Amino acid sequence: AKSLGRNMYQEFTHEMKEETQQRVKLETCLHGAVAAGQLQLVYQPKVSLASGTIIGCEALLRWQHPELGMVPPSRFIPVAEDSGLIMPISDWVLRTACLQAKAWSAAGLPAATMAVNISARQILRHDVAEWALGILDETGLAPDLLELELTESLIAQDVDKVTATFGRLKNAGVKLSIDDFGTGYSSLSYLKHFPVDTLKIDQSFVRNMLTEPGDAAIVRAVIVLAHNLRFKVIAEGVETAEHCRLLCEQRCDEIQGYYISKPVPAGEFETMLRNGVQL
Ligand code: C2E
Ligand code: CA
Ligand code: CA
Ligand code: CA
Repeated sequence: AKSLGRNMYQEFTHEMKEETQQRVKLETCLHGAVAAGQLQLVYQPKVSLASGTIIGCEALLRWQHPELGMVPPSRFIPVAEDSGLIMPISDWVLRTACLQAKAWSAAGLPAATMAVNISARQILRHDVAEWALGILDETGLAPDLLELELTESLIAQDVDKVTATFGRLKNAGVKLSIDDFGTGYSSLSYLKHFPVDTLKIDQSFVRNMLTEPGDAAIVRAVIVLAHNLRFKVIAEGVETAEHCRLLCEQRCDEIQGYYISKPVPAGEFETMLRNGVQL
């Protein structure tokens, strides 16, 4: 038993060492990513179920490294948050997204809001309102064409700070949505005072709504809750016609997911915006 214990300990420390080395390697590579032009945004359409038209998109970050290949955001965003790289990266993301949205609107394409994800560390440590309004000013994008998505779990960490930040953004005309709604284990009471426009039902509930009665019940409940609080509601991770039909029946306002389109480069999104999509 003693030697087993030691073996497990050695294995454990070995794994921790590898994990740490991996993170250090990622961090080193990430340092040069912006300057080397390795970051890219892809855009996923959001569609209104009432009109069948694209009402906006979500910008999602991609990192293509020459040796590491395509690194998913779920792996490098936490590294960026822990290393102080999150601000320069987020800065690039927001600026690029705003310039893109501005270009689309200047080209006379149908109006579409540009949604950008905000990281937990960012909102807790920095003045996100001042930062975002500054970039809107620089890029000349109309504030009501920008939407910021914040995850429910991070809101719960400092409701007062988030409420103040949201208030300033909302006053300036920026749209706000709560991402991954239903996964944050937080109290619902904060919602009634919250200046947000949209609740985004987490994709885990949507994915299982056809087979798990519990998940279907949560989806229905979130839609009713959102509407009673005068919020719009969007379902993410919509993959099939059956998801779409059920959400439509339950009066969900908007959908996003592979059923409409995967996240795509700017040029492809522009084509969808021009030609529309099939529901
Ligand atoms: P999220 O904000 O919840 O984004 C939704 C994720 O679901 C995206 O993964 C998207 O590609 C994926 N997705 C969309 N439709 C479907 C579908 O129908 N089925 C399935 N299975 N998945 C779908 P992605 O792009 O890998 O991003 C993962 C997470 O990384 C995001 O989750 C977000 O939290 C974070 N992230 C991405 N870009 C940024 C960014 O620019 N800044 C920050 N702070 N976080 C970002
Ligand atoms: Ca999101
Ligand atoms: Ca989400
Ligand atoms: Ca998520």
